[in-house]
Amino acid sequence: MKRKKRPASSNTWIYIIWGVNILVVVCLLSGAFFYFNSQRASAANGQVETPRADTTPKGPPTSYILPSLTPNPYYTLPVFETSTPFIFANGQGANIIGLSLASRPIEVYTFGNGAREYLIVAGIHGGYERNTIELANELIRYVNDHPEVIPQDATLYIIRNMNPDGEARAEGVDGRVNNNGVDLNRNFPSENWTAEWNRDGCWIYRPTTGGSYGGSEPETRTVMSFIGSHDIQALISYHSAALGVFPGGVPWEADSIRLAKALAKATGYPYPPLDTGCIYTGTLADWAVENGVGAAVDMELANHRDTDFNKNLNALKALLNFVP
Ligand SMILES: [Zn+2]
Repeated sequence: MKRKKRPASSNTWIYIIWGVNILVVVCLLSGAFFYFNSQRASAANGQVETPRADTTPKGPPTSYILPSLTPNPYYTLPVFETSTPFIFANGQGANIIGLSLASRPIEVYTFGNGAREYLIVAGIHGGYERNTIELANELIRYVNDHPEVIPQDATLYIIRNMNPDGEARAEGVDGRVNNNGVDLNRNFPSENWTAEWNRDGCWIYRPTTGGSYGGSEPETRTVMSFIGSHDIQALISYHSAALGVFPGGVPWEADSIRLAKALAKATGYPYPPLDTGCIYTGTLADWAVENGVGAAVDMELANHRDTDFNKNLNALKALLNFVP
């Protein structure tokens, strides 16, 4: 018996269905291909840098993050906390002066109300230098219990944690940068700010940048506007570890050298600081002395663990008696 010929319209439907099937398979395969390639590329970005022998700056690209296309490797869960770790009996707690990228508060504690204003900044390198934040906590408690350490004519401000997202992300190397992967102590719009720098002698354990421009990060702008609205005589920006006390200014500014020497004497931290060959650009201390702060230093605790409280209590007294 002769098979009944299918009607033409039925054949057309079979072609359409097979065509759609083939199209779907091709789409799936090419999607998988691009996905695995991009995974490989981002895995390569996450690799630890190794020291380079040549002097050509060929660091990582300025931005690692294409918002909404690539998951941000520096992401920390946003929080909307407003509570502060210390609420004092006299009601003099923290003031929130800005927010991090993930909306964590950046707080300043104020002690005394004299005309000479002094500033301590801790935690600029987040969880990598968490002991600086612990030191700030200890100093806050101490000064609250011993207000007599603040001279009558002085005011002390302590920004206890400039990089709360970095602190929340991790202790150790992954906690150093902010949520954009920026090194905040390379993000200040000092005269020598650069997005990239030669890594010789510098910190190389993770990719990082100085930001898309000087002052590009909200944490940096928070500290800039705080300093801009006060008449800061002298400031200490705390770091760890071990290299000593670095005066602000390029080249080092005279009053900052004098402050560095006074602090080195008070603490036993090295001055002049150890020279690893690293060129520091866009630092808080450099920007500060270029913008009206009397004297500024980067000061490093002895290691990544201890707060060296007694040494830094001596440093606090030296700071509060320093007149630029
Ligand atoms: Zn540091």
